[in-house]
Amino acid sequence: MKFGGTSVGSADRIRGVAERVRERLALRPVVVVSALSGITDLLIKGARLAYERRAGTEAICQEIRARHHEAVAGLVTARAARDRLTAHVDQIVNELQAFYVGVHNLGELSPRSLDAISAMGERLSHEIVAAAMVELGLPAQAVDARGLVITDDAFGRAMPLSAPTEARVRERLLPLVQQGTVPVLPGYIASTREGITTTLGRGGSDYSAAIIGAALPVEAIQIWTDVDGILTVDPRIVKQARVLPEVSFAEAAELAYFGAKVLHPATIKPAVEKGIAVGILNTLNPTAPGTLITERSAAPSGNARAIAFKKAISVILISQPRMLMAYGFVARVFEIFDRHRTPIDLIATSEVSISLTVDDPERLPAIEADLAPLGEVSILRGMAIVSLVGQGFVRQAGLAARMFTALGDINVVMISFGASDVNLSFVVKQDHAEDAVRRLHAEFFEKEPA
Ligand code: ASP
Ligand code: MG
Repeated sequence: MKFGGTSVGSADRIRGVAERVRERLALRPVVVVSALSGITDLLIKGARLAYERRAGTEAICQEIRARHHEAVAGLVTARAARDRLTAHVDQIVNELQAFYVGVHNLGELSPRSLDAISAMGERLSHEIVAAAMVELGLPAQAVDARGLVITDDAFGRAMPLSAPTEARVRERLLPLVQQGTVPVLPGYIASTREGITTTLGRGGSDYSAAIIGAALPVEAIQIWTDVDGILTVDPRIVKQARVLPEVSFAEAAELAYFGAKVLHPATIKPAVEKGIAVGILNTLNPTAPGTLITERSAAPSGNARAIAFKKAISVILISQPRMLMAYGFVARVFEIFDRHRTPIDLIATSEVSISLTVDDPERLPAIEADLAPLGEVSILRGMAIVSLVGQGFVRQAGLAARMFTALGDINVVMISFGASDVNLSFVVKQDHAEDAVRRLHAEFFEKEPA
């Protein structure tokens, strides 16, 4: 059971976590937690301030101390346990202060140092959650993930090494679980074989849950978050949005790529590959059934399943009349994007032109300059990609016609269909994106009963 930042964001929320775990004690859970909401951002912000020798690190330490003291005070009433935990919080925050001073004085912030700093949120949270559970009568025990989840030394985005991780996770956690203890581990953080702290990248505690779950003989992984699951569309835009009871891994991947933010499916791959179903559940609405992510979808082929969209996209059009019958042109275009390390999302070509989309505007001026010798370049900014996600699209007659009819007078600048069987994407002006999404949802999701 993995609980995200908002699920452990306050004393009340942590009490809720303990209840969810208590309900499932007979299933012998292992618990993985994120940092309290907002703490990782603060830790990183402090590191940047220290590096730039600007004021504000003191205030950040104060705030981090206060948030955790407050959680402890709201959760642990037994005097001795509370004092011990408060002292532990102080010790970690003091360590943080010393790190900030070090960064400031040295004027250096290596990825390795940044990992040591950003790991502190989960070091704090898992201890507090474990102590709170004990206080509430659960047989919980804090277990550090460092020394169990073993990674390479790609600080900031370390990759787990499966053999040592599996061996250590089993060796350490199985005996605890077998004796009825609930281990409570920090997500996101890990260590190298030498014991140096690493992190798995932002949002990495889902990844931790999948790595730890895949190393154990678990029946299921539950990702407890603050939404009801994966929805047909963003509910802030379409109030008729529905929770999808089940999605395939491929569908979840497409949705995440094109804008849905529930979880990054790459992070649960280790579990899905082992055939472990991953559930998304809501700590704020714990009786809702949630979404189950499985290896393959049971949904009928050819159906649209969800809509995702992404704004702030730029479309780049390169036309070159002499490209007619030429070869090597596309390769030269791609080489330029490669050189600028800028990923391309959608591509469309005609006999004499190529258009593509990027969502990272940073390198655009430089890319434009490099493209200029290849032909006439124009850039449309402020565009959006809208994606209809499902499966079996390529064999489905009439899908595109339905889509264009639903869009009516909204101008489509570019379309990508057929590259994958699970996605039909198009580009519109971003001011039209919400409208396009609503019209598609009405056509594909509100007409017949699910
Ligand atoms: N606390 C980390 C972050 O905010 C990891 C996580 O929450 O998954 O990125
Ligand atoms: Mg988080």
